[in-house]
Amino acid sequence: MAIAGIAARRAFSERLPISGQADRAIVQAVNALLDVVEARERDAAQRLDELLSAREDAQTSHLLLRRVKQDLHLKTLELDKALARAEAASEAKSQFLANMSHEIRTPMNGILGMAELLLRSELDDRQHRQAATIAKSGRALLTIINDILDFSKVESGAFSLEASAFDLHDALRDVIELLGPTAEAKGLVLTLDFDNALPVHLVGDVGRIRQIVTNLAGNAVKFTERGSVTIRVRGRRCGDDLELKLDVIDTGIGIPENRLADIFEKFSQVDGTVHRRHEGTGLGLAISRLIVERMGGRIDVRSRLGHGSTFQVMLRLPVVNAVAVELSADGAAMLSPPASLGFKVLVVDDSAVNREVAAEYVRDLGCGVAFAANGAEALPLAAATRFDLILMDCQMPVMDGYAATAALRTQAGATPRDVAIVALTANVFATDREKCLAAGMDDVLSKPFTPEDFECALRRWLPQSKAAAA
Ligand code: ADP
Repeated sequence: MAIAGIAARRAFSERLPISGQADRAIVQAVNALLDVVEARERDAAQRLDELLSAREDAQTSHLLLRRVKQDLHLKTLELDKALARAEAASEAKSQFLANMSHEIRTPMNGILGMAELLLRSELDDRQHRQAATIAKSGRALLTIINDILDFSKVESGAFSLEASAFDLHDALRDVIELLGPTAEAKGLVLTLDFDNALPVHLVGDVGRIRQIVTNLAGNAVKFTERGSVTIRVRGRRCGDDLELKLDVIDTGIGIPENRLADIFEKFSQVDGTVHRRHEGTGLGLAISRLIVERMGGRIDVRSRLGHGSTFQVMLRLPVVNAVAVELSADGAAMLSPPASLGFKVLVVDDSAVNREVAAEYVRDLGCGVAFAANGAEALPLAAATRFDLILMDCQMPVMDGYAATAALRTQAGATPRDVAIVALTANVFATDREKCLAAGMDDVLSKPFTPEDFECALRRWLPQSKAAAA
């Protein structure tokens, strides 16, 4: 039968012919059935196609996903490597700065120290002027080195803020005293306008606050030819804190409006030409902003060209309670013993020039002095003679200052703990100071130091009891 052939061949698109013998209605019914079967068959084939292509898609997606995952893994490795490289570069930069700073400071100490000693000797007018120029140029160079070093330190975040009690009014008077002579020489009126109702004993990093105000007021004096510079302090109590508004107002040349936005960027100077009239590194404001922001404060400027500028610093600092102030006043009193003469001081330094500078300063204070060129030389000297103070360089050949101090502190009976060891170091990072203290030193004097710094450290560390008796 024809229908059996169709089923065997699965040729569902064929239809039975209507022939004379067959029942017309049955053939039509079978053909209608074939219509349905054919449609189902087509539908099923289409579904299968769809399923197959979906499976293909899934496989492609899977492959893609694997590739993306591989890419991601590679990218992560690359990123890790880049991060490690960046960290190493930053570490190298810090190390380079520390080394350079050390290398520059050591000879600077020689230059400034010798110029200072020369100025104290008998010179005719011309020689005195020349020596004074060496000293002045040396100090100017040192300011630039300090600025660059300080900026990198602050920018890299490698500095910590102190939080100790200080007197804000005293700190600002220091700034006025420092800048007074320059302002006076230019005929400017320099004033401190301090709201007397404000508490003056606050907690913060007074060194950094003084640095910021000195920067701002120093600029104000530098960029003002006529009129005045005023440091104005206002504020309001806010619980245990003081919200401080510190304005530095000048009547100077002002800043063009289009430069106000970038004036706090590093190396930014309104007059950037080689012919510019004012000296500077263009780092002062950048450093000030970074520090103020680290303190959680804000710094702003308002200015009109030719009509002066106002730099404003806003800080919130805790107010010290009365008990703490008394304590710190006691502490300060202990730090200034009476004039101390006739002590024996050992100077340990590998640089002959720096030994000579330190020795002259020591002798000027009426103390006896002995020398050692490194730690190994210092140990037997310290064992044989009872020194009142040891001034110790840190980086030295044979035995450095850290090892020498550790040896002195642990050698039984060699150097009792009450003998102060003060580091004389050209390293100026906070971590260097910590390293000195950890090695057993009592204090750190950074090179180059002024005769005043030197005297201050000596007075602080020469034995109190002997000093009082002297
Ligand atoms: P420096 O003073 O070393 O150049 P600063 O970062 O302290 O660097 O200042 C950047 C620039 O901002 C200065 O060179 C000067 O052009 C401008 N400036 C800062 N303070 C004042 C001011 N009080 N009056 C006018 N211009 C100023």
